[in-house]
Amino acid sequence: MNCIVVGGGVGGLASAIRLAAAGHQVQLFEANAYLGGKLSTFELGPYRFDAGPSLFTMPQLVTELYALCGQDPAEFPYSRKDIGCHYFWEDGTRLQAHADRQQYLDHVQQVLGVEPRVLGAYLDQAAQKYQLTASLFLEQSLHRLDTWLSGDTLRAMARLGSLELFSSLHQVNERHLREPHLVQLYDRFATYNGSDPYRTPGIMSLIQHLESHYGTFIPRHGMGQIRDALEQLARQQGVQIHLSAPVERIVIESGRAVGVQVGGERVAAEAVVSNMDIVPTYRRLLPDQPAPEATLSQERSSSALIFYWGMDRSYPQLGLHNILFSDDYRGEFEALFSGRMHPDPTVYVNITSKDVPQDAPPGHENWFVMVNAPHDKGQDWEGMREQTRERTLTKLERVLDAPIRDHIAVEDTLDPPTIQSRTGSHLGALYGAASNDQSAAFLRHPNFSRRLDGLYFVGGSVHPGGGLPLCLLSARIVAELVGPARP
Ligand code: FAD
Repeated sequence: MNCIVVGGGVGGLASAIRLAAAGHQVQLFEANAYLGGKLSTFELGPYRFDAGPSLFTMPQLVTELYALCGQDPAEFPYSRKDIGCHYFWEDGTRLQAHADRQQYLDHVQQVLGVEPRVLGAYLDQAAQKYQLTASLFLEQSLHRLDTWLSGDTLRAMARLGSLELFSSLHQVNERHLREPHLVQLYDRFATYNGSDPYRTPGIMSLIQHLESHYGTFIPRHGMGQIRDALEQLARQQGVQIHLSAPVERIVIESGRAVGVQVGGERVAAEAVVSNMDIVPTYRRLLPDQPAPEATLSQERSSSALIFYWGMDRSYPQLGLHNILFSDDYRGEFEALFSGRMHPDPTVYVNITSKDVPQDAPPGHENWFVMVNAPHDKGQDWEGMREQTRERTLTKLERVLDAPIRDHIAVEDTLDPPTIQSRTGSHLGALYGAASNDQSAAFLRHPNFSRRLDGLYFVGGSVHPGGGLPLCLLSARIVAELVGPARP
């Protein structure tokens, strides 16, 4: 078949690779002059930055694409981190998330006085939730009858109570862990899909399983290497890539997608896969088609304010991933989901030059400083950016007890409206819809159109959700739905 992919984000690229490997003729149209969408890179003087995602989990979802294309997965070099994250609290508590489970449990006992069996039981329960639900919620189309009739689903249904669907993640963490620092640490995993830990269901404790069990990783050349790898595989598979080519319409005839309109011209296809956010896909590319309003009006996930700072010195107390927690976590999420920034924000600092030395000059560091922000509701972003910059610097200097503002050599920023204008992400949300209630997973748009044949959807705003691993999984589901080329 001739297949068209609209958008060259991670989900679009991965589905183009999979469709081409299945024998289809694939064309990919990308609005920007570059591929990767949210996963892009840039340079500021001698510093290199990853603009968007910084945390890499489940690398097997990238390397399996190499295997699928008959390439050696070793061509994608990456390494596992011994310490997943460095945590800092205002009261002086410091904690390191060691990858080695026993070392981590002992360290938590030493720092927070929590017995290893308590945290061990929590981690084991999250592992169980993951094993029970991954195949249902993550690896298949949730919206097909055969998924619901599968043995995996029936097993999950039989153990529904253990999934803790009807408590919030925060309630689950308090019940199991009690110690406030540890509760806050495990609450934070709700932000991995841009949700509120005080509202997202307790089943979300499985998110941390990906990190604590499988580990965190870094590609040898930083996150941009993932985008480069996908582009290379796509080109090797013969995908025709058109850059600076925004698709204007998906063409529908007699209830099926028959191509797209781009640059005023019509390009025919038997299957169209949209990697554009699901809201503008309906509003802009399918304006004459009835839209699934309940799905499109779901609350959007949080967004972020990001400060990219080239630092003219190094900070040995920091690692690749660092989190400085707010003293008022509940207040921070209340503010975020009512459109405001909190005066004491949680600050995340990612420094790839710790692992990728060529990302900054010797003795310097490239800081990606991210503060959770509400999605765009027309706020005064310039004012909020300035205020947040100042609060962030004050917090960093206070908690790290080190001079920072005078060591910023070069600087850039990213805010929710810019995320929207660069990637088409509705309201600048990082992860599509938030998962702030039990129905969120079911309201996410399926990977196919229920009304129009030949139309598919991939990426962070549709099933199974946002974040690189889920986008890569959505590409796998789409390729399975389209099926192999017929001989
Ligand atoms: P997107 O990246 O959303 O790309 C969509 C593409 O479609 C864009 O290139 C856009 O230009 C193109 N497009 C849109 N409309 C058209 C059109 N009409 N015609 C042609 N092309 C079009 N995830 C993680 O796993 N770990 C992290 O640490 C992490 N941190 C993040 C930090 C930030 C600041 C951001 C922004 C995101 C982060 N994420 C993280 C989320 C992750 O980046 C996204 O879930 C993922 O990259 C989204 O991929 P996608 O396939 O949905 O495509």
